Amino acid sequence: MISPLEALGWNDSFLEPEDRVDFDRARLGRVVGQHRRQWDLLAEEGLLRGSLAGKRWAPGAGQEHLEIQPVVGDWVTYRSDTGSTPIIDRILPRRTELRRGAAGRNGQGQVVVANVDVVAVVCAFAPPDVKSHVMRRSLNPRRIERYLTAIEAGGARPLVVLNKADLAVDPEQARSELEARLHGVRVISTSAKDESATLAIISELLPQQTVGFVGLSGVGKSSLVNRLVRQERQRTQEAREADARGRHTTTHRELFTTPSGILIIDTPGMREFSLGETTASDLAAFSDIARLAERCRFGDCSHGQEPGCEVRRAVEDGSLDQDRFESYRDLFREIQEHERQKREDPRRRRPGRGN
Ligand code: GDP
Ligand code: ZN
Repeated sequence: MISPLEALGWNDSFLEPEDRVDFDRARLGRVVGQHRRQWDLLAEEGLLRGSLAGKRWAPGAGQEHLEIQPVVGDWVTYRSDTGSTPIIDRILPRRTELRRGAAGRNGQGQVVVANVDVVAVVCAFAPPDVKSHVMRRSLNPRRIERYLTAIEAGGARPLVVLNKADLAVDPEQARSELEARLHGVRVISTSAKDESATLAIISELLPQQTVGFVGLSGVGKSSLVNRLVRQERQRTQEAREADARGRHTTTHRELFTTPSGILIIDTPGMREFSLGETTASDLAAFSDIARLAERCRFGDCSHGQEPGCEVRRAVEDGSLDQDRFESYRDLFREIQEHERQKREDPRRRRPGRGN
């Protein structure tokens, strides 16, 4: 039997050698969710909601200010007295991390998740008869290579997942060509519609390893994650769970255990990671739509139900391809969501802060 902490991915390699002898595992937890200034932890005593020691928030904390905040996947130690909020006092050194904007001005970016062993880059085949631009872009080797660069920079192992294999004429051919190009990065093809997708992914991981999924919206990340987790998972809605003291508490779980023993991190931060570096160029490819949008009646037109929308008019009169419009709209929504989260999450308000 493995211990509850091991089931969450714990092993002693997270400890410095000098810590290994006397380390008090009863005070270890893994960050499974993030609130504004509190973190949900899973620990031996169950689910806890922890805060950072007050001094960490003082302006005097300076440079370290942002870096020392826990992110989903972190292992932390905490203190707790009966009846009071557990205080996170230490973040154990991260074995791997994923930074958003790693190619940014200061070359640093912001850590979005920690201690992921594998990052799966999900791409999708498109049916041969449908001009799906999202899918074509998702399979673009140069785009994939950009992801791989960032993943490897953080120390995680990349895995490329070509999903929607059921739509492809010859998925194996595409898979082996890409694998040859990517020099040593494993490429698998799956169909989330098919039970075998679970096994295909699990076979690439060891039990108790942590995996996260990145990729454009629409490629099947949720479908794959749902298959692996096999339970109703509330990704965006708030869920109510009982904490270690038996109280019901609102959590926002972003790290999940699965029946196979692998752990899955599915956080908005990780999904946005796909956008950090690619937004501008993606939308630059839609300059025809941007030109139409300039003539919409409302400056902030979402090209949905608004009156006077030139983009929808172009779709209706056939001068703009419907599928191209949809792929633009998907990306546009992703970006809006990204901006919304940036506004709501004070830590993300100023890019590069703390570095
Ligand atoms: P996400 O945005 O990456 O999380 O993508 P979703 O999991 O929401 O999937 C987007 C759409 O693609 C949904 O309609 C899914 O049913 C569909 N889909 C996902 N995986 C597959 C697959 O392997 N084959 C086919 N044909 N459709 C899929
Ligand atoms: Zn419009």
